[in-house]
Amino acid sequence: MTEAEWLHHDEPDAMLEFVGKRLADRKLLLIVCGCCRVRSTYESGAAYMAEMFEKAADRSVDAHAKMSMMSTFNELMQGNMLTFALRAMSGSEGSCLSLARTAIGMIRQLEQQQATPPETPVAARKCVNQASVVREIVGNPFSLHEFDPQWRTSTVHDLTVTIDDERSWQKLPILADALEDAGCDNTEMLDHSRSEHAVHHRGCWVIDSILGRH
Ligand SMILES: [Zn+2]
Repeated sequence: MTEAEWLHHDEPDAMLEFVGKRLADRKLLLIVCGCCRVRSTYESGAAYMAEMFEKAADRSVDAHAKMSMMSTFNELMQGNMLTFALRAMSGSEGSCLSLARTAIGMIRQLEQQQATPPETPVAARKCVNQASVVREIVGNPFSLHEFDPQWRTSTVHDLTVTIDDERSWQKLPILADALEDAGCDNTEMLDHSRSEHAVHHRGCWVIDSILGRH
């Protein structure tokens, strides 16, 4: 995959294959969480699943945690989420990467069925929402810069923690100003924080970079 493909092609499966093995379980679960949030407009079960994945991302995903996720899936086996739940369960038997692959595949399938005419070839359908979530959580893997600890002033740190805790993404442009005041010259980070079009999710690569999370 090239940088241009990463930035402009909306192919979440290929993107996940490209970076998946380098991502921590937390990031993979937050990708699934973000994709469920996107779906939550259409399915109430997806909102519940997003909560579940978000909670799982904050702790280490051991066998017990996976069992807990699977039992929750069992409770969610109803309506349109039945097939998703079954596939996600089988994915969780392997790893968080296989779980993310399965979840993205199923959510993409649901979205494509509803958003595009059935006669449209699968290859021609774009998966803008899921690809955006992957970009939001991972950032640009072609130009990852180390976050200079000097940029993490108390103002930057406290504001970042507040935004993350409150999910108050509308404050990100203020964070960009604070970063610049601290000497940050990472234009990708500043642009992402100031973008009027970005849809932010838990695990936003800017927030995680500042807080040193992976
Ligand atoms: Zn973001």
